[in-house]
Amino acid sequence: MKFAITSKGNSESNTLMHKMKSYLLDFELIYDEEEPDLVISVGGDGTLLYAFHRYSSRLDRTAFIGVHTGHLGFYADWVPEEIEKLVIAIAKTPYEIVEYPLLETVVRYQNGGKETRYLALNESTVKADDATLVMDVEIRGQHFERFRGDGLCLSTPSGSTAYNKALGGAILHPSLPAIQLAEMASINNKVFRTVGSPLVLPAHHTCMLKPVNEQDFKITIDHLSLLHKDVKSIQFRVAEERVRFARFRPFPFWKRVHDSFVAD
Ligand code: NAP
Repeated sequence: MKFAITSKGNSESNTLMHKMKSYLLDFELIYDEEEPDLVISVGGDGTLLYAFHRYSSRLDRTAFIGVHTGHLGFYADWVPEEIEKLVIAIAKTPYEIVEYPLLETVVRYQNGGKETRYLALNESTVKADDATLVMDVEIRGQHFERFRGDGLCLSTPSGSTAYNKALGGAILHPSLPAIQLAEMASINNKVFRTVGSPLVLPAHHTCMLKPVNEQDFKITIDHLSLLHKDVKSIQFRVAEERVRFARFRPFPFWKRVHDSFVAD
């Protein structure tokens, strides 16, 4: 089996990365940064987001596993003290794979510019470049509302514990093939009105944002932020691709939610 290890870059993560690499090489696994079957991310959830994007072109052939060197993560749920156990499990056992849904974002441009497509593990957000965001929101091809406010966030189930949660969105179990639309500070008064609640869309529904006047937007895909000019529409749906995590022991999602947000 071929493996690669990515590190957050701090000294604790780097030391752990070198230790795991040497243990796995001792078990005669092959280190291959280009075409790994297994990617081990050492750091935090943010480190796993970077690893995901680095290998997003080969998601069907790569499984991820996260070791955390800080606090418990949602993607990084192994602790440094467990790495010997983890290394043996990787080397000896055929591992189980769990798959989580991803968000597809397609940005289309005025004047026939080539569309861009992204996959997000956590979420995609849309904000105006330098003003209030004004967007017509369509769901499944039907006009739903005209949004005015700071921005909109479309998240995956596994990303629902990240930015989405800070916006008052619900936490979704990652076995649900769905995406969630959450508002950032919508303007609501006698003139302007939005639904005001987060919406959860199933895999066969598409959410489309269409600019009303301003056509330049800051669009984030997980940690990546880009200014898109002359935007005609931004389309979101559950992606056909899924992210694969290697599972060596049960760690139920709701336990991770409890341990991260309620108590250690
Ligand atoms: P960052 O600003 O350095 O870290 C964002 C925090 O979000 C880190 O504590 C990270 O955990 C945590 N996180 C990432 N994915 C998570 C998940 N699925 N569930 C729970 N927590 C999660 O940025 P970054 O490390 O590059 O990560 C980018 C992410 O930051 C975005 O995808 C977005 O979700 C999040 N973000 C959140 C807010 C907010 O909550 N108001 C605002 C902007 C962006 P680790 O410490 O384990 O890495």
